[in-house]
Amino acid sequence: MSRLLPTSTAGSLPKPAWLAEPEQLWSPWKLDGDTLTEGRQDALLVSLQEQLQAGIDIVSDGEQTRQHFVTTFIEHLDGVDFERRQTVRIRNRYDASVPSVVGAVSRPKSVFVEDAKFLRKHTQQPIKWALPGPMTMIDTLYDGHYKSREKLAWEFAKILNQEARELEAAGVDIIQFDEPAFNVFFDDVNAWGVAALERAVEGLKCETAVHICYGYGIKANTDWKKTLGSEWRQYEAAFPKLQQSSIDIISLECQNSHVPMDLIELIRGKKVMVGAIDVATDSIETPEEVAATLRKALQFVDADKLYPSTNCGMAPLSRRVARGKLRALSAGAELVRNELLGK
Ligand SMILES: [Zn+2]
Repeated sequence: MSRLLPTSTAGSLPKPAWLAEPEQLWSPWKLDGDTLTEGRQDALLVSLQEQLQAGIDIVSDGEQTRQHFVTTFIEHLDGVDFERRQTVRIRNRYDASVPSVVGAVSRPKSVFVEDAKFLRKHTQQPIKWALPGPMTMIDTLYDGHYKSREKLAWEFAKILNQEARELEAAGVDIIQFDEPAFNVFFDDVNAWGVAALERAVEGLKCETAVHICYGYGIKANTDWKKTLGSEWRQYEAAFPKLQQSSIDIISLECQNSHVPMDLIELIRGKKVMVGAIDVATDSIETPEEVAATLRKALQFVDADKLYPSTNCGMAPLSRRVARGKLRALSAGAELVRNELLGK
């Protein structure tokens, strides 16, 4: 990126009400068949337009073609049975009925590549594409086949690498892996989680990112956050290993969070997507509030490596609030950009 402080979102944006029930996760589609395919593409274009109008520099599909950031990818794989469900604990936080791994996992065909080509065709801006990370994928499944979290993560990493290579060939500039599980399973992260992630990015020439957050603003997550105390030091466990890794960009939650900003020092040298927008509240940040967070982050990350972003995806928010937050992000970044350039 030649532009100083390029803005982006962590990933998802709200879907139009004609496509899916608004303001909820796993919202069922309101269309089907060819009409659904067309509707999802229309929504992708609307989402792109809203990002451009708000002045977002690195744009995405707003995840308009997927129901959920993990499940939709897994639905396209062989070896996972969505009928055979088991209840498991997700990220040590809440129980959910999840599909079962019943055989060797594989990707019979690409999942998001056509969507990525469609987005590429409609914008000259740099584009970022999100995929789930291997550790977060295994945490959303019951594994009756490999019976080893590490083994299954490794298999998913190989599949993600196939998808990522095709996304790169489709013209994606940054491929981001969502790994909220990195904030929970610290021993696994250090033993094999980061290694699995590096397997997923093997051979890529485009930029790569990992997004580690405290989750969407849903009740299970906000309840969990209340148990974390006044200082959230979860990042501290994974950062030294990530600093040594081949991942280019680390995407973090910083706005209204209890993460001590100086933890960013532990990943010095990496590009940092600093979450300067809280996705767990409807109140829209002022540009000055965004700027204040970015200025704090600048103590620990060089200006040419700071990428202003959102804490997490905004799928569960209303479109009005999400649009306001996108504009606040742009305006806040502009304030700091002007200061850095001495304008
Ligand atoms: Zn997130």
